[in-house]
Amino acid sequence: MINKQNFFTRFFGGIRIQLALWNALFFLLIITILAGYFYFGLRRTLYKGAAFFLGHETQEVASMLKRQPFGLELVQWIDKELSERPEYSSSYQILDSKRKVISYAGGGGFEDVLKRLDALQVKKNSEMFFDVKDPKGKRYYVAAYVSADDRGQTVNYIFIGSYLDVIHEKLQIYLDKLFWMLPNLFLMAVIFGWVLAWFALRPVRRITKKMEAITVNKLDERLTLKGSGDDFDRLASTFNTMLARIQNSYERISQFTSDASHELKTPIAVMKNQIEVTLGKKRELAEYQDVLVSQLEELERLSQLIESMLFLARVDNGQVKLHAERVSLGKLLDELLDFFEPLHVSKNVQLAQKLSDEIVVRGDKTLLRQLLFNLVDNAINYNRPGGKVCIEAAPEGHQVVMKISDTGRGIAAEHLDKIFDRFYRVDPSRSSGITNYGLGLSVCKAIVSAHEGTIHVESQLEQGTVFTVSLPF
Ligand code: ADP
Repeated sequence: MINKQNFFTRFFGGIRIQLALWNALFFLLIITILAGYFYFGLRRTLYKGAAFFLGHETQEVASMLKRQPFGLELVQWIDKELSERPEYSSSYQILDSKRKVISYAGGGGFEDVLKRLDALQVKKNSEMFFDVKDPKGKRYYVAAYVSADDRGQTVNYIFIGSYLDVIHEKLQIYLDKLFWMLPNLFLMAVIFGWVLAWFALRPVRRITKKMEAITVNKLDERLTLKGSGDDFDRLASTFNTMLARIQNSYERISQFTSDASHELKTPIAVMKNQIEVTLGKKRELAEYQDVLVSQLEELERLSQLIESMLFLARVDNGQVKLHAERVSLGKLLDELLDFFEPLHVSKNVQLAQKLSDEIVVRGDKTLLRQLLFNLVDNAINYNRPGGKVCIEAAPEGHQVVMKISDTGRGIAAEHLDKIFDRFYRVDPSRSSGITNYGLGLSVCKAIVSAHEGTIHVESQLEQGTVFTVSLPF
């Protein structure tokens, strides 16, 4: 059941709402930039319009003043002209050359313009624009024209100004609209983004649902791919690959457990039976001793088996730590050969050792001894009477390549890729005479892998087998 807090976290922490919010924020940013751009564009256009009108009027007045003396007719003309564009609610002032006001209408504020004109290099017979404040502090936009005669003497000062209220009103309306529109747009973008994300993430929900249904008993289930090769298809395909690996490992572990139980069950049943039979009646001391000796041998084999299983389990869990040192393969083999002496003599197998003491690898001595032991033990055990085993090694590049070859029964091609599997024996009935469980080569492979080396086998039936091991220096 989803509780309130969970729902909240799932909703707001969920990818859908995050996508929607990011999308909306981005959208808002773009809209704000665009709105700003249009705001300043509109402002510039409106000001340009006002400047054009005010400037044009000052020019007209100046040229009329040059043509005719100032009089009522001109005042009427100006009033008519200005009243044609009431949105600028213009006012004006005309001064003569001595700066005496000869006509004016509307508000003031032109004194400030006059002061600023004096402070500037005034270009005569052309209009200039000023942003000034009237005595009440209200902004005032003024076109000023200093009209001069042919000799450059100032004849008149003409000022036409406007508070540009209409412009400011228009701009304010724009800003107000924007102010109300932006949050609404943001909300719409969030909702739209959320719906879009909901649709876009449908495959994820499908994958999640399917994944939830996969249990250990259903590891063979796979997600169906749409075949479009999009991100979700790739996700599903990666998941399928991972599932295949898990299934493979799980099956191997199950197989290993069942093989291990089987291998342990048989000798324990035999031992139990032997003890029951022995205890069935009173026996001589020597008989009891014989039984105990045979039980001890069996227990030793079992202990070896358990040790190998434990080692492989530790390798699987990554718990094996190498105590790396420089190990001379020649010396290591010499120690082992003494041990093998009785075996190869009894089997009538010749051992040829072509390893010099200088052949050195970097690795864990105990594990390398186990590796050599398993390979040489197999080479002797699976040999024929009068056969040979040869052990040689040589440096190759950054590695030492060691070969253990024998002239034994060989391994058929169909078994070659399986002999490194746990509990795999080519012919269990023939192996049973030899006390082996099919773990020796799995242990060898694990040891070589732990040393970042490689091991492979070549074999010909009834000719012999060669195991090649490459180990880094
Ligand atoms: P086992 O403990 O049975 O020897 P291994 O894992 O060491 O198990 O070997 C797996 C199987 O590979 C053996 O059962 C045997 O049939 C085959 N094998 C291993 N080494 C040799 C060899 N040198 N010659 C022929 N067969 C071999």
